[in-house]
Amino acid sequence: MPQLIAGNWKMHKLRAEAVALAQALRATPAEPAGRPTAEPAGRATAGPAELLVCPPFTALAAVADALAGSDVAVGGQDCHAADQGAHTGDISAAMLKDAGAGFVILGHSERRQNHGETSETVREKVLAAVAAGLVPIVCVGETAEQRAGGQETETVGWQLSGSLPMGFSGIVAYEPVWAIGTGRTPTADEVAAMHGFIRAELTRQFGPAGAGMRILYGGSVNPGNAAALLALPEVGGALVGGASLAAETFLAIAAAARGD
Ligand code: PEP
Repeated sequence: MPQLIAGNWKMHKLRAEAVALAQALRATPAEPAGRPTAEPAGRATAGPAELLVCPPFTALAAVADALAGSDVAVGGQDCHAADQGAHTGDISAAMLKDAGAGFVILGHSERRQNHGETSETVREKVLAAVAAGLVPIVCVGETAEQRAGGQETETVGWQLSGSLPMGFSGIVAYEPVWAIGTGRTPTADEVAAMHGFIRAELTRQFGPAGAGMRILYGGSVNPGNAAALLALPEVGGALVGGASLAAETFLAIAAAARGD
């Protein structure tokens, strides 16, 4: 399975800026799985990775239109657990789908911290996302204090068992909270150890399906560290914040992806 390089644009970009970035990505398509890697003349290659961008809600439909028919997928950054209703300011999974999304990020630490989302909330959102036909990307990760206290695997273990419903099918992203937007990353050994733990947990919870699920790494991935991070065992791609806001850096990360 090719690695997935997912861009989380967070609360950045007005529609025109978002469309311009989408068009720049479109001009340098990723190679979808199974396609020969022949490089179209005059275009740099994004390597074997699959690409996904998650714009803010206001730009989602415009970005989806700009990327229609391309190899770059589009996702939302959150959704509500309910189909519809009196939830001012929220957005349903079906609305994301309707706007052109195929994926949705759920349980990002900025949602867990800033909006008080618990793993139970995240699990309900995952169910809603899957019911609407979206692929959920469920984020887990420990804080600096939890790692300093040696509680990183326990924390992530609880988040996995609490956030992933029975029969889960989707993607997990390991994002140490202290690595997000800080320029700091865990060591290779720390990433490999956590991804190995997550793989074991997914296999324990979901059997063969869990053995095949993608596990992304996220937290200060940039063109300089991407190749080393993406080469680690059980790393199935990257969730990228800051470096996804420019085509050049996002595509440089994609070009570093492992091609198996
Ligand atoms: C993120 O917020 O998902 C993230 C990984 O951000 P950054 O790449 O900026 O650390």
